[in-house]
Amino acid sequence: MTTPAIVMRKLDFRETSLLVWLFTREAGRFTVLAKGAYRPRSPFLGALDLFIHLEADLVLKPGREIQVLAGARVENAHRGLSRHPLRLAGASCLVEEALRALPEGRKDPGLFDLLAAGLILMEKFPLERIQLARRAWETRFLDLLGLGFSLERCAACGRPLPPGVEEFFFSSQAGGCLCPEHAGGNRPRKVHRGVLALFRAFRTARAPQLAALPVAREDFRTASELLDQALEDRLEARLLSAPVLGSLSLR
Ligand SMILES: [Zn+2]
Repeated sequence: MTTPAIVMRKLDFRETSLLVWLFTREAGRFTVLAKGAYRPRSPFLGALDLFIHLEADLVLKPGREIQVLAGARVENAHRGLSRHPLRLAGASCLVEEALRALPEGRKDPGLFDLLAAGLILMEKFPLERIQLARRAWETRFLDLLGLGFSLERCAACGRPLPPGVEEFFFSSQAGGCLCPEHAGGNRPRKVHRGVLALFRAFRTARAPQLAALPVAREDFRTASELLDQALEDRLEARLLSAPVLGSLSLR
C-alpha cells in the first residue's frame, strides 16, 4: 500500500539498513525495515530523516513484527526545523506525545493530520512563541483523544458555570472546570478566567491569530502546568523531550 507517513524514530540495522518507526496515515504506526538505506545509491537516501513527511510504499504482512518499506518519496522535509534547536525540541515533544498515545498498528488519520500540521507549526511559527504553539497543539491533541478540558460546564455534573466570575475551580484529573459543589475531593486549584480564555483560543485559533494573541505570563504558566499534568496522567509517562524544550526556551 502507499500512504502518507511521518518518520518518528529510527535505528541502524546491520551494516547498511535502517529500522524506522513510521506513523502512516492509512494504517497507523509501524516499525519498518528500509533495506540498504545507507548504500550510496539507495532510493531512501535523505528520505528517512526524523520528522520527514513522506509518501511510503509498504509491503504489509499481517502478524509480521517488522514490515518492509519498499519505497519513499519526500513530501515535506521540514528543513526549517533544523534552523533552531527550539524548533527541533518542539517537534520532538509533539512526536513523543503522539507516539505515547498511539499503540502500534492502530489507524488514526485524525492524529496523523494533527501531527503533520503541528510539525509545520514548529517549523514556521514565530520562534519566540514556539511554546505557545506547542501548548495550543497539546490542547487539540487532548481534545482529539477525547480527553479535552471541560471549559464551559462542570466536568463532574455538566452544569454550566456561572458567567462573570473571575476565578474557577479547575482539576486536570477531573477533566476541567468544576462547580463549587464538585470541587471537593478533586484537589482542584483556583484559576483565573484568563486561563480558560487561553484554552478556548488554543482550541480554535488559526496560526496567525495565535501568533498575535495577547497572553498574560501568569495565565500561560498556569495553562502549561495544567496541560503537563493532564498529559502526564493520560499518557502515563513523563516526556523526555519536554525539559529540553523548557530549558531552551526564550525568555
Ligand atoms: Zn458540578
